Amino acid sequence: MFTKTSPSQQCLICFKPLLQVSHLRELFKEQDVLCRDCRSKLVVDPIIIKMNDFDVYSIYPYEDSFQKILIQYKDLFDEALAPLFLNRYIKQLKPLIKSRQMVCIPSYPQHVKERGFHHVESMYKEVSRDSLQLLSKVSSRHQAKMSLNKRAELLFQIKSNSPTSILLVDDMCTTGESLRQAYMLLTDHGHDVKCVSVGYHPLLKRQFPYKKWF
Ligand SMILES: [Zn+2]
Repeated sequence: MFTKTSPSQQCLICFKPLLQVSHLRELFKEQDVLCRDCRSKLVVDPIIIKMNDFDVYSIYPYEDSFQKILIQYKDLFDEALAPLFLNRYIKQLKPLIKSRQMVCIPSYPQHVKERGFHHVESMYKEVSRDSLQLLSKVSSRHQAKMSLNKRAELLFQIKSNSPTSILLVDDMCTTGESLRQAYMLLTDHGHDVKCVSVGYHPLLKRQFPYKKWF
């Protein structure tokens, strides 16, 4: 008779069993969803980037391993990978969400439908289960294909809501333009906003001042 291993007992990337506990004290550590090998390949460099108008808290520079995992998750619709991005950093994220409501950078509705899940919302599920649907996309063109000029077009629209404190979250901060537009729109409507992105483009470290986050 075969016993099915629970998915949480296997590394989400290489499927190696996770419960190879060599020291008793490891039993008491919070269980990771990745094996040690896969976890160690992910470059972690948590920083706070001082963009011109706002700060972005971010954890992973967009390096090879992160890039591959993000593509598998986002473009190959591998929803099971969602917990690996932030499960080690809940402790650092909790103080930011405290007394704030989470707002995700919106995706195009047809992309959410294609994927079968909202990729940003799923990444942050352990940080906050409820996200406020305050923003929606206005342009139907893919941002990556746009010229720099066109990227300056309005990306989001806002649903009216009484001003509140918000944690604005995204998966990748490439140029910072999406976050900036969403941040401006929300603050113009009286919201108090902090921004978090799971990953960031390493070039941002040359373009903007930054400091170590944790
Ligand atoms: Zn692994």
